[in-house]
Amino acid sequence: MTPDLTQARLHCEAAYPNEGVCAYLRTGSTWRFVPLENISEAPHTSFVIDPLAWMKLERANQAICLVHSHVDGPAELSRRDLDTFTVDGRPLLPDLVLVVVEVRDRRAVSVGEWSFRNGAWEPIAPAL
Ligand SMILES: [Zn+2]
Repeated sequence: MTPDLTQARLHCEAAYPNEGVCAYLRTGSTWRFVPLENISEAPHTSFVIDPLAWMKLERANQAICLVHSHVDGPAELSRRDLDTFTVDGRPLLPDLVLVVVEVRDRRAVSVGEWSFRNGAWEPIAPAL
């Protein structure tokens, strides 16, 4: 189960030409949108979440859908994404869903979604 991504798409479009990052926290069947700031020193090609903001997300102890955008790049998990979200062959957090929004010319044009199953990040049916 994944959230409606309308707010995430708008957030990532507004961040262009930098990568946008945001999250949804799940309570029951409801997802709450949480905008995040990209504090990367190279925000056009990468994203970094403020450690305090990340800690708050973790502390919420709810399923997290983490969204970030690729600027003029494909809605696919990059090597760096895989390295960031996989630790010792496991997902960084249990029940983590990853979403990548492809933003071209300030428009979200496609979305990819993944969850961790059978030891790997596997795509979920796209939402766009
Ligand atoms: Zn990425």
